[in-house]
Amino acid sequence: MGRTKKVGSTGRFGVRYGLKSRKEVLAVDKSLKQKYKCPNCLKPSVRRVKAGIWRCTKCNLKFAGRAYKPV
Ligand SMILES: [Zn+2]
Repeated sequence: MGRTKKVGSTGRFGVRYGLKSRKEVLAVDKSLKQKYKCPNCLKPSVRRVKAGIWRCTKCNLKFAGRAYKPV
């Protein structure tokens, strides 16, 4: 009996975590679409090449930053 209850509550936590990670994925997606200012030409043309690598489409400056944000 008690064992069954435990499993039930774990399942509820699973749903909770699922919602949280979905929210985080949305936040990451938003930050990836956002444009960032280039530290060289100051134009909002910085795009993420891959995790931690950013590139300005105006002056072609390539620089390392955080995974989801340039600085
Ligand atoms: Zn630039």
